[in-house]
Amino acid sequence: MLTHSPLQPFTLEPFQRAGLRVFIKRDDLLHPIISGNKWRKLKYNIEQAKQRDVSKVISFGGAYSNHIHALAYACHLANLPSLGIIRGEQAYRDNYTLRWARHWQMQLQFVDRQTYRLREDGQFLKRISDQHPHSVIIPEGGSNKLAVAGVAEVVDELEQQCEFDYLLSPVGSGGTLAGLIEGAQNRYTLLGIAVLKQQDYLQQQVQSLLNDRASKWRNWHLLNQFHQGGYGKFGKQDAARLGQIIKQTGIPFEPVYTGKMVLAAIELAKQGYFAKGSTVVLLHTGGTQGLGGLLERQRITADDFIMPPPAPRL
Ligand SMILES: *Cc1c(COP(=O)(O)O)cnc(C)c1O
Repeated sequence: MLTHSPLQPFTLEPFQRAGLRVFIKRDDLLHPIISGNKWRKLKYNIEQAKQRDVSKVISFGGAYSNHIHALAYACHLANLPSLGIIRGEQAYRDNYTLRWARHWQMQLQFVDRQTYRLREDGQFLKRISDQHPHSVIIPEGGSNKLAVAGVAEVVDELEQQCEFDYLLSPVGSGGTLAGLIEGAQNRYTLLGIAVLKQQDYLQQQVQSLLNDRASKWRNWHLLNQFHQGGYGKFGKQDAARLGQIIKQTGIPFEPVYTGKMVLAAIELAKQGYFAKGSTVVLLHTGGTQGLGGLLERQRITADDFIMPPPAPRL
């Protein structure tokens, strides 16, 4: 297990043409199983759960969630029982992600969409707490204040690896961007590439996770023009372009998060968004386990991507 993730040059023709130095921070290499940013986000959550000797760690996610996958493994390693409350039907229990989660002894509870919408509702959460005494509930995506503290460490590491002007990350539930904002201490320009449509919601989510000082900083922008139609949506052409980049660089990307960020960075470079001569860092947030579910649903073909290991038979 690495404690620091490596920084690598990421040289693609559009970047060279725009006069940029581009690096990629390989948080996907932090751990062979827990995808990069989920490891950062869970680190202090798991530490605290251990210290408090909780009976169970509970969280929420979709049926293919990177967070659920990472949480199941992290709890397994820490010897903590875990419960995943999953949006959708029981039948999902055999999909790629949830087979792994069950392999690591996560208990699963399936709820319909209406119930799942209550995941931040105080009364609903209280009921879950009452049902599972002395447990801890981590929000969807793992995004809470402890997650922010974990992600902030990315910036400390980066500062020892290079000087840079821009830092890019995909944005799903906002915890990662909030962590980068706190870590950056109002330096650099941080660009969050929204991978889903609800811009106002995301802006508020990020803002709500920041401490008082950080909530006044304006060195970050949420870019909303690269989600390609919404969460998990991507066109054939974009998947093919991403496939080429994967072949060319040997770096595993997936089309839901990191792929959208890479394509966004190329587009921004072409548009002249970055000042010539500047240094841009892309944060590789991991997430390749998601490819297993995309392949199962025939949303991708295996030869375009670097596939994760097959799910265990249960
Ligand atoms: C969850 C996830 C993100 C988004 O992180 P948030 O903190 O939810 O914004 C980005 N990339 C990958 C690979 C993820 O799994």
